Amino acid sequence: MFKKISYALGIAFFAVFAFLILKNANLSTFVDSIENRTFDLRQSILINQGAKKASNDIVIAAIDDATYEYILDNYGEWPLSRDIYAKIVNYLEKQNPKAIVFDLMFVKSLKSQNKADEALINIFKKYNNVFTSMNFDNQSKDLRTPPDLPEKLTLNIINNSNNDFSKLSFTNCRTILEGILNSTSNVGIINVSRSDDGILRKMPLVVKYNGEFYPQLALKAGLYFLGEKQDTYEITKDSEFKIGHRKIYLDDDGSVILNWYGPAGTYTYIPLYRLIKAVNGEPTELNFNFSDKIVYFGTTAASLYDIKTVPAGKIYPGVEVQATFVNNIIDNNFIKKVNRGYTIVLSILLALLIASVVTRVNSAFNASLMSVSIYLIYLLVSYYAMKYENLWLEVVYPLIFSIVAFTCAYIIKYLIKSRDFEQQYILATTDGLTDLYNHRYFQEQIRMQIAQSKRYSSRFSLIIIDIDFFKKFNDTFGHQSGDTVLRQVAQTLKKNVRATDIVCRYGGEEMSILLPNTDKEEALSTARKICERVASKKFRLSGDKETHVTISLGVATFPLDGETAASIIEAADKRLYNAKNNGRNQVGDI
Ligand code: GH3
Ligand code: MG
Ligand code: MG
Repeated sequence: MFKKISYALGIAFFAVFAFLILKNANLSTFVDSIENRTFDLRQSILINQGAKKASNDIVIAAIDDATYEYILDNYGEWPLSRDIYAKIVNYLEKQNPKAIVFDLMFVKSLKSQNKADEALINIFKKYNNVFTSMNFDNQSKDLRTPPDLPEKLTLNIINNSNNDFSKLSFTNCRTILEGILNSTSNVGIINVSRSDDGILRKMPLVVKYNGEFYPQLALKAGLYFLGEKQDTYEITKDSEFKIGHRKIYLDDDGSVILNWYGPAGTYTYIPLYRLIKAVNGEPTELNFNFSDKIVYFGTTAASLYDIKTVPAGKIYPGVEVQATFVNNIIDNNFIKKVNRGYTIVLSILLALLIASVVTRVNSAFNASLMSVSIYLIYLLVSYYAMKYENLWLEVVYPLIFSIVAFTCAYIIKYLIKSRDFEQQYILATTDGLTDLYNHRYFQEQIRMQIAQSKRYSSRFSLIIIDIDFFKKFNDTFGHQSGDTVLRQVAQTLKKNVRATDIVCRYGGEEMSILLPNTDKEEALSTARKICERVASKKFRLSGDKETHVTISLGVATFPLDGETAASIIEAADKRLYNAKNNGRNQVGDI
């Protein structure tokens, strides 16, 4: 019973604690932020091990610091005149690249030159494998009226998930050159998602504007690379975006969790200035075959501010985030974060395992070692799940649950143990029939009394009690009734002494009382009182029968009557014998 209550208490405590953690918004934000760091750590380890190979099909035409310097020196200003991009595209197209993707926004600007812009617009008319980007925001209508966008830029999506994409919905948009919007549908969105700690771990696959879905630039490029041209795309009720047989798992907010291949510079960087030199017919070290590549144009120069912090590195160019994103689409390599419900189930299983180890394994050292090992094995599983299955198994909730389970189990174990110990102690020191202390305890205590009385130069007394004619009583009323009376005599003794007095069953129907700090006179008067109380008491037998018994008593006092346990007991015994000889029902003469 006690065990059951303890277990129930432990489980209840665990449940309340778990509930509080899960329901407390601050705590769960805190847990999530640590969980995110463990994700970064797992990604870093996998990257360091070279577990993931980036695609060779992607190359970055980088507007790096060298290019920025080259542009300022040769053209006097940034941004670069758009006809240069047009020339570069024409140059690259001769090598049959798979796609050319601009992670650049060709917005209308005061520096735009109509002819140069026209040259770029013509590129989009001429080639259907050239892509460019646009960004949504929530700017005030005071700055610009939210534009109507051509319908061809939207993506037809049947959304069967619970996600309404409210976190990826925007109210305004900075448009790019109207000529481009009119000539191509190859325009993707480059909005990003960031975690609370500012680190970019995921990216929107699609975003919403004016109630319509718009695809991410990387999704546009990825679909083109895969040759997928569906009229409509489905987001399943399990939040999976389906491309043919591929399923891209969308996280709670609708973003996809990127799988990182390496630090900045994982993809081949071709400095853009070399391409400019090449199209201008100047000698340059450009020695690269662009055929069948996805060429991603974007800034990597620190001075151009498109730098993010991602799990794979603190300084990571936005264009390489795009490259990673496309790579994830091509290789169907996104991370799937295990649903919170499953995480809680896993955490509870782990907690149960640890709790059962703690309650079953006797050695605290072994139990702790096994509990830590269980969690470490779980950590290893979570690592391999990410390595081989692209699964993000959360590790922080399981850790918290394990620690709470470990603690609760230890408290329960301690409670049960101490209770067992108490029960064993009681069993070892009391007599089962009378509930008085047993003979062994009496012997211990009388020695203790002697030691204490010697130490403090005090006294103590001993009363020995024997029931009169008990043999006859048994013969008359039966052994059962004898037992009943024995118990009642014991209770009467207990009731008539002080709480500090120690009442024991000496043996058979003999009982003894140790009276600490009690001199002979006090002990004698206690003995007489007890004698009278027993004699006047009606002892109830089974049925309605009542009877009387009497007792004889002998008293001895330390150090007066002896200084050893044996001599004191002997003195008390002698006086008990006198009491018997004098007719019983009395305290023996001194
Ligand atoms: P007296 O002490 O007055 O001289 O006579 P007595 O008959 O009580 O003699 P004694 O003390 O020698 O007898 C002990 C008897 O107590 C023997 C036994 O029948 C009875 N007795 C001892 N232990 C128990 C017990 O646990 N239960 C019962 N019912 N009887 C017991
Ligand atoms: Mg006896
Ligand atoms: Mg007797």
